[in-house]
Amino acid sequence: MAGGGKKEQSLATRLVTGGRSGDFAEHVVNPPVWRASTHLYPDCAALRDGVKTNEDGRFFYGRRGAPTQWALAEALTELEPGAQGTVLYPSGVAAIVAALLTVLRSGDVLLVADNAYDPTRNTAMGMLKRYGIEHRFFDPLDVEAYERAFCERTKAVMLESPGSLTMEVCDIPALTTIARHKGAVSLFDNTWATGLGFAALEHGCDITITSLTKHIGGHSDLMMGAASAGERWHRRLRQTAQQLGHVVSPDDAALALRGLRTMGVRLQHETTSALRIAQWLAERDEVAHVLCPMLPGAPGHEFWKRDFAGGCGLFSFVLKGRDDAARCSLIDALNLFGIGYSWGGFESLALPFDVDPVRSQMAWPKEGWGLEDRLGIRLSIGLEDTDDLIADLKQAFTAMDQG
Ligand SMILES: *Cc1c(COP(=O)(O)O)cnc(C)c1O
Repeated sequence: MAGGGKKEQSLATRLVTGGRSGDFAEHVVNPPVWRASTHLYPDCAALRDGVKTNEDGRFFYGRRGAPTQWALAEALTELEPGAQGTVLYPSGVAAIVAALLTVLRSGDVLLVADNAYDPTRNTAMGMLKRYGIEHRFFDPLDVEAYERAFCERTKAVMLESPGSLTMEVCDIPALTTIARHKGAVSLFDNTWATGLGFAALEHGCDITITSLTKHIGGHSDLMMGAASAGERWHRRLRQTAQQLGHVVSPDDAALALRGLRTMGVRLQHETTSALRIAQWLAERDEVAHVLCPMLPGAPGHEFWKRDFAGGCGLFSFVLKGRDDAARCSLIDALNLFGIGYSWGGFESLALPFDVDPVRSQMAWPKEGWGLEDRLGIRLSIGLEDTDDLIADLKQAFTAMDQG
């Protein structure tokens, strides 16, 4: 966008103005969808010159993107205080794996938060191991044990907060300060809050990663990921992405940009709605625990309040006792909640989860909980009316009790 003053703009405004600086901006609001593998040069001299510059905004060849992808990357960079640039990937997992491959080499050790997204754990245990990179899982709520887990070869830390499924918010500045002190790079999966809700780089993270499939897409119809960083790591992320051949389609980039524009109001609605539903669930006899970062008393709520600027509609709860059949009858009885993976779309979803296979350091049930209280359900609250969602949950609890 023309004109200065971007620094003073709030992030909510940047959601609207971001990425609208290309040549197209004089004529239309949104960048055209540039579908192109070949970019044409006027002559051989220009073709040879083209090789010398490798940066976003310079035409070269389709794999390095075109104005649609550049506009999205620029908009995401503007949402991330401290970022120099953003690299796009065909999925959130692709972003995580490519970022890890950027910072690690054979012989290094990676520390992985025990409540990280399951595929992140699998990459550490699978592919990275095959390439000679070791990993150790740690409990992100136990800062002393985390500090002890470092060794001379520890080169990177993979963080995620709130943790997947169990939703604990950790003390990110404490963890990233220790990592920096030990000479390790901090990577952070910011899919839950996005740059709008948590300024990862300003809290000591070196690379912040987002699955755009969730809140940015926002309509359950695209897969994409992004990694943003300051100058040093952005350059290397870009290099690795190019060597891996990562590129996203311009059509999907245009969809992601469209989603981004309304993300602020969607997240605001979801946050308010989710908190009300979380409070309602906390009062139910069938519910043992509600794991919602925005809810006072939830694990790490104090860190969320201190470090985050916003929330979203994704949280979990744990049934009091019950067996899997009861849990399934509850979920199956829901009418407004779809059953499926992913989250962050305009529609609400419910998902049963079991923690045993995806944790090695953090106890489940948590300390002080009843041993029977272990069956989790994750909800992604969408844009439906809150009272309708509560009524749906209420009738499903009745169905469970009668089943
Ligand atoms: C979904 C998700 C991802 C992966 O994103 P995809 O786009 O589905 O590959 C990464 N991290 C978190 C926390 C997620 O929930």
